Amino acid sequence: MRLVGPAALAAALVLALPAQSANRLEPVPILMYHVVTNAPAKAPYPELYVPRASFATQVAWLASHGYHAVTLQQVFDAWRGARTLPAKPIVFSFDDGYLSQVRNALPLLSARHWPGVLNLEVANLQPVWGIRPPGVRKLINAGWEIDAHTLTHPDLTTVSAGQLHDEVVGSRETIRKRFHVPVNFFCYPAGRYDETVVAAVQAAGYLGATTTNYGLARPSDLYTLNRVRINGTDSISAFAQKIQALHA
Ligand SMILES: [Zn+2]
Repeated sequence: MRLVGPAALAAALVLALPAQSANRLEPVPILMYHVVTNAPAKAPYPELYVPRASFATQVAWLASHGYHAVTLQQVFDAWRGARTLPAKPIVFSFDDGYLSQVRNALPLLSARHWPGVLNLEVANLQPVWGIRPPGVRKLINAGWEIDAHTLTHPDLTTVSAGQLHDEVVGSRETIRKRFHVPVNFFCYPAGRYDETVVAAVQAAGYLGATTTNYGLARPSDLYTLNRVRINGTDSISAFAQKIQALHA
């Protein structure tokens, strides 16, 4: 068949486009993890604990199904046309900053040369169970992205204008000064946000922000990016079903 007129022009344009255009605006799953170890007895939120062995199985399942871990910055850059993503990109995000994220998640991801994304609550640099500055440096050296998750993890929809500013601007400044990384993305504590909070995050210069809303992250929702919560009780088949349902 020989195309003529506008049809021929359209076909020629499609052929001329670089390969990255095909996935330029594709939605990407951002997995949400908290603690990566067994839940202690009487843990107030046992679902936030994913055992190390479960995490290992999940990483292996994703690798065997063709997924490649990327950072949020890489996704953002692909969405603005500045880079190409690997096939089946996926983001591993870890909230708050726990020692288990360095001890258990880091080696399992590093074995595949995969990065993670840490949403760091600055207060978690202090306690013994917290991630501590050497832990954060290990993640950075392994190619992880460090993003901001406030100073003290308040519900940002309930705080004063002054505290909102301190939590949003102050967390970025603190992490930047301490670890010399860009901190281009923000994560709302407990997924709580409203118009005022989003405006504060935009004004602070962040390029985007993640929520706890369920689903794929889309370039149309840069400041309210969906994520996929992974629970401690998710079996590997439940995990696989979650991932496959996203693309259905
Ligand atoms: Zn949190």
